[in-house]
Amino acid sequence: MKYICRHCGKTYPITSMRYICECGSLLHLSYPKTPPDFGSLGNDHSLWRYRSALPPFERETIEQITMGEGGTPIIRLEENLFGKADYLMPTLSFKDRGAVMLAALMAEAGVKRCAIDSSGNAATAVAAYAARGGITTEVFVPASTSAKKLTQIEAHGGRIHAIDGSRDETARATIDYVNASGIFYASHIFNPFFWEGTKTYIYELYEQFETLPEVLIVPVGNGTLLMGVYIALQELKAWNPIDSYPLVIAFQAANCAPLAQAYEKRSLVPQSVAVSPTLAEGIATGVPARGKDILQAVHELGGRFVTVTEEEIIKAHSDLAKKGVYVEHTSAANYAAYRVAVEKDATLADKKALIPLCGAGLKSAH
Ligand SMILES: [Zn+2]
Repeated sequence: MKYICRHCGKTYPITSMRYICECGSLLHLSYPKTPPDFGSLGNDHSLWRYRSALPPFERETIEQITMGEGGTPIIRLEENLFGKADYLMPTLSFKDRGAVMLAALMAEAGVKRCAIDSSGNAATAVAAYAARGGITTEVFVPASTSAKKLTQIEAHGGRIHAIDGSRDETARATIDYVNASGIFYASHIFNPFFWEGTKTYIYELYEQFETLPEVLIVPVGNGTLLMGVYIALQELKAWNPIDSYPLVIAFQAANCAPLAQAYEKRSLVPQSVAVSPTLAEGIATGVPARGKDILQAVHELGGRFVTVTEEEIIKAHSDLAKKGVYVEHTSAANYAAYRVAVEKDATLADKKALIPLCGAGLKSAH
């Protein structure tokens, strides 16, 4: 298992604890994987049922860190639209899929203290799973983050650093702190272990639908779910369970859309955009560190981007609640994106589509 820089080709051992290559590029992860035998995965219903295709942690480490994350149900929302209820995870968001990987990595590497920056859910998940490994988490969040999320983070022993600024300014403050203190950067954006967890979202869909839905709606801020989706789809195609990709429709809030705007301009470089506040705080990233990787991934998958307005998000939030589903506005934005996509392309209405229901509504401030 090693980190690899796709820009200059340099590799680093996992124990190097690097979050970025010497050349300044971001790192990817390389390790031997065995395709899951989908016909006989046994009765572990957590994401660890796919252990052969996950980073090779010791069994004792997994047993110490896991809270049974994964294995979330599918909810029918419309005749052809389904939602995957990842808001039913141990810390109430899909980030648990990646956080358990980062925490296992830290536990095996003997890390005692780490830093993470987040709009809330990733930090909550990392603080919770790190606590299980006896690891203290320094959590950097925008000062505007929901008080409920901060309460949860502190309950897990996380130390809050509230940054008076945007999500992007919070990220810069974290990197300054990591560089000055030398502690491990448990970043869900920089560290590729995180996607090795989020990719199990696709494995589960493959099992639950006995193939994949024809259309996948994927929210994109820093791309932690999108990159997991990308890796898993490539793996499933290489391993033969699927012979073509489903249509991946990535979306951003219209108020913060550096990648959707790049897609519109047929560019593989994130656009410099004016950012306005959005209810979809989980994807409010104006300067995504992995922006080029995300655009490249959507391009390779043959996917597309759409954007959603604040009004569309509010309507979708209300409509989902009337279907019994109470999620954050960032999650409701997925439903809004589905509606926008169908409005743009009516043929999608007849296709089996899936949206992620990423975070529980009780966590958000509004
Ligand atoms: Zn490099």
